[in-house]
Amino acid sequence: MRIVSYSDFKRPDGSIDWGAFHREDVAAKKLDTNDGVYCSHCGAYIGGPVGYPQVCNQCQSLTHVSELIHSRLVRCPHCAQEIRPSEANASGRSGLFEPGLHEVVCVCAYHFTVETHVSYSFVSPALLKDPDV
Ligand SMILES: [Zn+2]
Ligand SMILES: [Zn+2]
Repeated sequence: MRIVSYSDFKRPDGSIDWGAFHREDVAAKKLDTNDGVYCSHCGAYIGGPVGYPQVCNQCQSLTHVSELIHSRLVRCPHCAQEIRPSEANASGRSGLFEPGLHEVVCVCAYHFTVETHVSYSFVSPALLKDPDV
């Protein structure tokens, strides 16, 4: 796995060539996907590298009949179409990004219910330089 550092794309004047950085970053990620570091279907980090493309456990479950949990995709139970949460035709003010139950309408016109689980992380401020003040 190759980490592309933006500091390698500094111009002589000190500014960063973000376009070149982004192209290199995408190319490195594609090599890693071919090596099995990232899921070749959804792009999630797997680990590896095993030397060949892999799909993550969540994407493998997309091909199973049973109910599934996926952190990046929703599946229509009628036609098996995979839908990105950001592109889903879903009920609620923030669509699928609000926790709870949502009605989704697939491109095949089938209506189904998706439950959104949200996990939290908490950002704490940096340590004070002088805690006695
Ligand atoms: Zn995946
Ligand atoms: Zn459908």
